Amino acid sequence: MRLVIVSNRVTIPERTEKAAAGGLAVALREALEKQGGLWFGWSGNVREATSAPNVVERGNVTYAVTDLTEAERQSYYLGFSNRALWPLMHYRLGLTEFSRTDYAGYLAVNRRFAKALIGLLRPDDIIWIHDYHLIPLAAELRRRGVGNRIGYFHHIPWPPAEVFGALPFASTLASTVAAYDLVGLQTQTDVANLMGCLVAMCGASINGSRLRVGRRQTQVQAFPIGIDVEAFRKLAAASVRSATTPLKATRQSLGERKLVVGVDRLDYSKGIVQRLEAFGQFLRSHPDQRGRVGLLQIAPPSRSDVPEYAELDRQSDEVAGRLNAALGEFDWTPIRVVKKAYSRNALAGFYRRAQVGLVTPMRDGMNLVAKEYVAAQDPADPGVLVLSRFAGAAHQMGEALIVNPFDTHEVAEAIRTALAMPKSERVRRFEKLYDTIAATDIGWWTRSYLAVLSGAAPLEPEIV
Ligand code: UDP
Repeated sequence: MRLVIVSNRVTIPERTEKAAAGGLAVALREALEKQGGLWFGWSGNVREATSAPNVVERGNVTYAVTDLTEAERQSYYLGFSNRALWPLMHYRLGLTEFSRTDYAGYLAVNRRFAKALIGLLRPDDIIWIHDYHLIPLAAELRRRGVGNRIGYFHHIPWPPAEVFGALPFASTLASTVAAYDLVGLQTQTDVANLMGCLVAMCGASINGSRLRVGRRQTQVQAFPIGIDVEAFRKLAAASVRSATTPLKATRQSLGERKLVVGVDRLDYSKGIVQRLEAFGQFLRSHPDQRGRVGLLQIAPPSRSDVPEYAELDRQSDEVAGRLNAALGEFDWTPIRVVKKAYSRNALAGFYRRAQVGLVTPMRDGMNLVAKEYVAAQDPADPGVLVLSRFAGAAHQMGEALIVNPFDTHEVAEAIRTALAMPKSERVRRFEKLYDTIAATDIGWWTRSYLAVLSGAAPLEPEIV
């Protein structure tokens, strides 16, 4: 049985390139290498006119990538995917920008992908499609007679029907989900919301974990995505010994001061501005802490050609500047916002050095940074994770300090509690968290999803 993976972006590895440690792309590549397969998607390039996919062989994996036209990039990617679906799925109706032209472009790219993919498929392939850019892809494949097993994994949250229903054509889009044999989501809440949408909008009936729409049956199940825990643990331990990592430099510039760290793409779903305000509140409520602790916020820019992201960029600079001016001293800057991307190696070092990991998204599918922070801790003297209850990770990581990111005061007090937590309690919480993320790491995730999709794992018995 060959595995076919379809995702929005595909990077073809160099001929000699070995897989780097960790990450989803690496886990998927390993799954493909294990049984041989095909990876199909957008090359990331834009061309005036599109042509047949560029097909490249790397060992037993075939990469087939297609370019987008600028009009397709605008409508399918920037428009419908990133200005309508992304905010909508993160419960942000106020930021959801719907345009019929963009929606038409989204459907057209999915149609074009389906046509291009069909020419590359074999009868016994199992097909695994990733993320919200490609929801209608299976329906387009089915329309053209594809009978293979097709699965979908939704990496971001799925909102309740009352929110999802605000999208024009919501029921049409929701109905395309029924073309899949298996739909994976991050949490039980997402599963319930998706099922609720299909019941309310498409007349689906539910039987245990199966949805029935007309004659089609779809298994809907939570598979919380994980990280390569072991690889991260090793990177973090090595960062302590290395003389050149940012960890050493951080140590020099911070001295004995404590460190709170945040790591997020600059995205409004991550609650960065609210987090800066909470840190300011913490320093105001606990003046004894001034000069003794700093917040390092790593925030690499993302989707900067979408206007809502440019606004967030400006806002975060303004808030950090205001708080630093109000609370800083000549020899101490409370908040550092660094708007660039760091390697996983460098991040592992920052996580290890930080007494507190501050992960406070307003809404997040999973949030891998929460898991990376725990994996990177020194088991003998671990830091404390402060985690938003609206991150998918909170469903698994109850031993973190769970907070409501909309409540500035609560987050501020959680920072105080984390910094003051006795070692015995830190160790107890860390051990439980580590065991959880190690038991459900990225290898577990890929294996369990593929076992259900390929039919190797038994499905839940039907409830009669
Ligand atoms: N990341 C990185 N360099 C950075 C910032 C983030 O490599 O400067 C990585 C981080 O280690 C994590 C991923 O980007 O693996 C972010 O995943 P997450 O689920 O937290 O959020 P997403 O960006 O997917 O919404």
